This record gives sequence, C-alpha cells and structure tokens, in this order.
Amino acid sequence: MSTKYGELYVVATPIGNLADISFRAIETLKQVDFIAAEDTRHIQMLLNHYGIHNKSIALHQHNEEKASVGLVAKLQEGLSIALVSDAGTPLLSDPGMPLVKMAKDAGVRVVPIPGPCALIAALSAAGLPVTQFVFEGFLPRTSSARKAFFNERLERPITWVFYESSHRILAALQDMAEVLPQNRLIVIAREITKLHETIIKTNLGHALQLVADDANMKKGEFVVIVEGASIDKSELALTAEQEKILKILMAECSIKTAVAMAAEITGARKKLLYQAALDLHAD
Ligand code: SAM
Repeated sequence: MSTKYGELYVVATPIGNLADISFRAIETLKQVDFIAAEDTRHIQMLLNHYGIHNKSIALHQHNEEKASVGLVAKLQEGLSIALVSDAGTPLLSDPGMPLVKMAKDAGVRVVPIPGPCALIAALSAAGLPVTQFVFEGFLPRTSSARKAFFNERLERPITWVFYESSHRILAALQDMAEVLPQNRLIVIAREITKLHETIIKTNLGHALQLVADDANMKKGEFVVIVEGASIDKSELALTAEQEKILKILMAECSIKTAVAMAAEITGARKKLLYQAALDLHAD
C-alpha cells in the first residue's frame, strides 16, 4: 500500500437522535478533505448541528459506480474522504459498497468509524437470541415474493432481521402471518432513538393485530426481528407409522391428496410428507 494515498473513512452517523455520534466521527468529518454523502442536503443538517465546515459531494445509488472511480482517483492522489449515508452505517442497505471495494482493490486504506446501525440497535434491545443472526436487508416488494421468502425461512433455527418501510409494514406482517406460525415471537422496533421509539416483543398474531389496529404503529421506520424456529428433532423425519399411512393413502389417491390427508391424520408436517411421497413415488 502506498503511504502517499489518502484514506477512506466509513463513518456511521445518527439514525434519529443527533447525539448518537462518536467524537471520532465528528473529528473525522472535520479533518477529511471532503465528504462523500448519500444526500448532501441531509448531511448538511448534521454538519451544521456540530459546526463542521467541510464540503460534501453526492454519492448515491444512481451514480455510485461511476462516481466511485473518480473518488478512488482522488484517494490515490492523496486526498482523504469520509463516506456517510443518510443514517446509520454506510453499506448496510445503503450506498458505499462499490467505493469501498474499489478503494480496497486499489490498495487504499479503508477505516471504519463505527457507530449507529438500526439493525444492531434493534437486536441489542430485542431480548431474542443474538449469538447468531441473519440480516436480510429489505423484504421483496410483492406479496407473492414475500410469502416465498418467508416460506424459505420458515424452519431456519436462528434469529433473522429485516428492514421495512411504513408503506409495507402491515402487508409484510399479513404475509408473514400466512406463512409462519402465529405463536412465533417477533420484535417490532420502530423509530429507534426518536421521539416515538417503540420496541414491542410479542407473538406474530398479536403483532399483526397491533399494527393493523393502531395508525401510529404504521408510521416511521421499522426493524423487524423474527425468532428462529425451534426444532423438535422428532419433527425432522417421519415415523414408520406415519410413512405407512402415507403409503396406504398414496395407493388410493393423488400425491397431493394423500399428503393432505396424511398430515391431517398423523399431524406430521406437510413438507416432510411431501418429500417422502416423492421418494416413495420414485421407488
Ligand atoms: N444504514 C442504515 C443503518 O445502519 O441502519 C440503514 C439504512 S436503510 C436505507 C433505512 C432503513 O433502516 C429504514 O427503512 C428502517 O427499516 C431502518 N431504520 C433506519 N433508522 C431507523 C430507526 N431509527 N428506527 C427503526 N428503523 C430504522
């Protein structure tokens, strides 16, 4: 790495409460040659609040590939740059990935200045297991894609987290309630660090009711955390008795009907019965 290169600082900024910024972040925003910001007007409010007199240029999702090439050239000339997004940590469902990748590939030192991040703030106050978790970013936008998405995660045993907007929070919970069991625990973390911060931990059925019934619960920004599925090992395979019933039914009716009836009679999971039916059919 050339010592003549400038440094790229990835600076986390507040997700609501302006006091949530580190001393180091403020110093960095003051000292860099300029700031690459998702929205220059937005960052200006933060700069004004802290009396930071520095210039910013736009780096948003519509220009970031092209703009990043120019920014890396500036870094290679020896200028230092702070990368910020509108809120929280850049790159986390925010612009910045192309710039950081190009900078690293070019041998530029990339320095994280850690701070707020909505998903981490939500996890820290959720009271759900966080030893392992999966961050999903934003959900798909159509109902059918969302249901498919939930179905794929139905049996995942670890905590998962996603971001959602006020326009889609109710629809997202409605779709989730069609796929996941009603008693699955979820946490809705709304407006974290802001005036109307609300962090509710309850089961899916109740959460849906709360959001549907309360207009305020559909406003603002949301992080949703879902408890992982609890795995009962006895549910991972069919018992001999369950398989026997499935075989008998398959001799009399279609796979679809046999699976539905076997699920009804034995209480086994449809997914397992369906897989077993396909295996039996292939033999
Ligand atoms: N980079 C940001 C971070 O570190 O959290 C996330 C940016 S992403 C474009 C914006 C989404 O993050 C919002 O739609 C919402 O889901 C979540 N979010 C951001 N601020 C939030 C807050 N104060 N409370 C709850 N969710 C928030």
